[in-house]
Amino acid sequence: MSTDENDTAEESSASPRTRSVDVVVVGAGTSGCYAAATIANAGYDVTIVERKPAEEAGHIACGDALKGADAFPEAIPKSKIEPAFTNTEVDHGRFEIPQEDTVLDIPVPGELAVIDRWEYGRLIIEGAEEAGAELHYDTVVQDVKQDDDGTVTGIVGKHDGEVVEYDADIVIDGAGSLSLLQDKVDFSDATFDTNVSYQHFSSAYREVVEVPEPVEWSDALVFKPAEVAAGYVWYFPRTETTINAGLGFQMTEEPMKLVDDLKRDLRERPEFEGAEVVDKLGAALPTRRPYDSATAPGYMAVGDAAAHVNPTTGGGIAGAAYAGKYAGEQAAIALEAGDVSEEMLWRYNRRVMDHFGGRYASLDVYNILSTAVDVDDLMGLIASIPGEKLAEALYSGTTSFGPVLLAQTAASSYGHWSQIYEFFKIKRLADELLAHYGRYPSRPSALEGWKVERDRIMDDIYELTGADPKY
Ligand SMILES: Cc1cc2nc3c(=O)[nH]c(=O)nc-3n(C[C@H](O)[C@H](O)[C@H](O)COP(=O)(O)OP(=O)(O)OC[C@H]3O[C@@H](n4cnc5c(N)ncnc54)[C@H](O)[C@@H]3O)c2cc1C
Repeated sequence: MSTDENDTAEESSASPRTRSVDVVVVGAGTSGCYAAATIANAGYDVTIVERKPAEEAGHIACGDALKGADAFPEAIPKSKIEPAFTNTEVDHGRFEIPQEDTVLDIPVPGELAVIDRWEYGRLIIEGAEEAGAELHYDTVVQDVKQDDDGTVTGIVGKHDGEVVEYDADIVIDGAGSLSLLQDKVDFSDATFDTNVSYQHFSSAYREVVEVPEPVEWSDALVFKPAEVAAGYVWYFPRTETTINAGLGFQMTEEPMKLVDDLKRDLRERPEFEGAEVVDKLGAALPTRRPYDSATAPGYMAVGDAAAHVNPTTGGGIAGAAYAGKYAGEQAAIALEAGDVSEEMLWRYNRRVMDHFGGRYASLDVYNILSTAVDVDDLMGLIASIPGEKLAEALYSGTTSFGPVLLAQTAASSYGHWSQIYEFFKIKRLADELLAHYGRYPSRPSALEGWKVERDRIMDDIYELTGADPKY
């Protein structure tokens, strides 16, 4: 049961307003809404606390590309979010490689759509509310409450200039990239991954642009390398005439002037002549491996707050939705058992790693590679690899070449053979890493031992690529 102490207790002007709930979720993004809907569906009392006002909630910087919606968690029914799918005709990536004078059309496996992101944001909030979650807007979370034994017991925020407190058995941190909560929790008695630096993030910016005439590539997600290797420009068609245009770069690189660089690219493309910008937003997103552990007693981090993003594409909506589901299900089990220890919450980490975490960690190897190579060499190499193999590698984290394909690739890649040989050696290590994530421990006490072997594989990767250690 939710209670508001000030409804019953004598009000004191000095004491903050305190509510008690089973679970408090910070952030009404994808991860927070799916977590809250899952918990509410299980019959528990859950409140989402969101810093934005109700009118602005769900308005989040995004490329608007949604992959894998066919298999999205059902806590929020797919029929609820479908009205936001404005372009379901997109079925492939179109990689423009000006250095090689090449355009590669690459199929994208699974269901793909470009969406009206703000509408989707509003619909998932509605979905969480319909499941039974409460939404408290205009409330900026500034601190956490924590017991002497390290268990997180609630949060402290500000609403309308007033301090508000929420006591909860479990706090779910869905506050996005660089979540403030993680600066406030004392993780010294937990396995929670604190090996996080700004270089693990990308800075990204996007505009929604209306063009006068339908674009020819309205069935494709268009990608183009940025001037730095670890960055790219994108054009994703929400409709034939509404385009999400953006760019991002890994923060290991010299900062790009995002707004100016995008403007320049737009000016060079004839289809954007006479275009009108209708929305602008930028943000940081994690482009690193998922957190080794996203749990502490009474606390789980989900979505961007735990780096649940495909680090090569920057796609994070699907990871956020699934992390929300897994954390929500584990929260319900912990509440039922009356035990919110890390041991009890641990299965959440394991489910994330089994489903997509290991795959994203192995894809991060290619991100590490891209920081250590010349952009022209990399583009030459990409242009020489068959499109469907590249698609497989991008989304599954691994791919294999039969003998005929190998011969064809060898012929088309003449001039890049030494790089291809290096690439295969790197791929072998990425596969080894993926297999190691398949052995992610089933108990928190085994994490340290598991990390020793993972870090050994990472050392081999740094040695082979010549990249600076990322972690
Ligand atoms: C420019 C850009 C383009 C992208 N393009 C794509 C794409 O095309 N496809 C894709 O799948 N992914 C894309 N991503 C990634 C994707 O947007 C994220 O991975 C996804 O939104 C993560 O969801 P989340 O719920 O974890 O966090 P968010 O969506 O960031 O939600 C966090 C919420 O927490 C709230 N909040 C934060 N701090 C506080 C606080 N202190 N108190 C209260 N509330 C707080 C925020 O207001 C926000 O509502 C892109 C990201 C960026 C930046």
